[in-house]
Amino acid sequence: MGEPGLAPGQEEDQMSSEETYVIVGASLAGAKAAQALREEGFDGRIVLVGAESELPYERPPLTKGFLQGKEEQAKVYVHEAGWYDKHHVELRLGMAASAVDRTARTVMLADGVSVPYDKLLLTTGSSPRYLDMPGAERVHYLRTLGDSLALREVIEPGEKRVVVIGAGWIGLETAAAAREYGNDVTIVEPAPAPLLRSVGPQIGELFASLHRRHGVEVLLNEGVASIGPDSVITSGGRELPADIVIVGIGVRPNIELGESAGLEVENGIVVDASLRTSDPYIYAAGDVANAYHPLLGRHLRVEHWANALNGGTAAGRSMLGHDVVYDRLPYFFTDQYELGMEMTGVPDAYDQVLFRGSAQDLEFIAFWLLGGKVVAAMNVNVWDVATDLQALIRSGNIIDPDRLTDPGTPLLDLL
Ligand code: NAP
Repeated sequence: MGEPGLAPGQEEDQMSSEETYVIVGASLAGAKAAQALREEGFDGRIVLVGAESELPYERPPLTKGFLQGKEEQAKVYVHEAGWYDKHHVELRLGMAASAVDRTARTVMLADGVSVPYDKLLLTTGSSPRYLDMPGAERVHYLRTLGDSLALREVIEPGEKRVVVIGAGWIGLETAAAAREYGNDVTIVEPAPAPLLRSVGPQIGELFASLHRRHGVEVLLNEGVASIGPDSVITSGGRELPADIVIVGIGVRPNIELGESAGLEVENGIVVDASLRTSDPYIYAAGDVANAYHPLLGRHLRVEHWANALNGGTAAGRSMLGHDVVYDRLPYFFTDQYELGMEMTGVPDAYDQVLFRGSAQDLEFIAFWLLGGKVVAAMNVNVWDVATDLQALIRSGNIIDPDRLTDPGTPLLDLL
């Protein structure tokens, strides 16, 4: 939706004395920032720019409920269509931002129109890592609503041979959906366990067993050598018949706009704990932001849904000059077959993993500890504990392992 009547190169007039806040990235983070601005009383102009022509939507259903056919499309949107008009949020959808001029404080859109801003928020998200090999043009990636619709259409009838490349969260969730529709599913993963980088071998193996119990073939220590018209050849030389190929091998942050504008970029757009970039008029949130985390004492880039949700809101408040310290612990969840879980914290450095409950019965809490302190926790089919687990991690206390693993000890008693 361009601005009618404006020729490329023309600059819009700014509204009288009011400020204009531009949000680039009509994503969950962008929509939540716009909502926060209005809820906090900002009555200036808000322009929400999105490269996709869809209204802002949430991504978890794309690999879970919506892909599984259990959730309607209408439910994936952050706000219903009328919300934006009602709150005077101007949508520029189907319109990529091509450049930011920090001196003039304008954002150039793909149609050549430049939009002036007083403050700018970048919520440009991330893009899939693409598989670079012959035959890769026929694979499915899962990032957008369109990707999810296209995949659902082909897996829903069942009885197809599906090969999933990459046993990360996208690979495992789409494999579960495909299997539940009655397809033959094989997962190919070069690492010795699924999810190895994000949760380590013990939990990774548990997910491998879960999928195997449901009839999925999980090939580990196995890469992909080539993709043919009806098969995938693994690095070990196995030919896997494949009607459908799904690739989930990670994402990379969409830093281009920030980088070309000269913002500090390192593993994403670098922001402080108030989500402000190296330019005081520009903020970043969601997947693209590498934010200083005060609790962890280092920068952290988080690609999960809750970070878009909460980071977008925090960025909106921060743009208004509120004293924002964004120190949420990373949080996400998954649903695969009979397993539902939530994960809190960052298990990238740990020396011990302890269990409370039964991993075999898929009803437990796993704790990642470093020097006796809990740094991350995953509750599997155990509910209403996420807040207590966050408190445990935030406390930084050294926890008695016997009490930690005793299901009879309330979690808050450990603080
Ligand atoms: P991911 O979780 O990072 O997993 C990618 C997997 O693919 C890793 O196991 C990776 O191994 C493997 N891999 C990398 N290169 C490969 C190759 N050439 N061939 C085969 N496997 C390869 O990424 P994702 O599953 O694509 O998901 C994208 C992002 O969305 C992630 O940040 C993810 O956390 C997020 N997401 C979250 C949820 C949720 O919260 N439930 C659901 C879906 C997606 P290495 O680690 O060894 O590279």
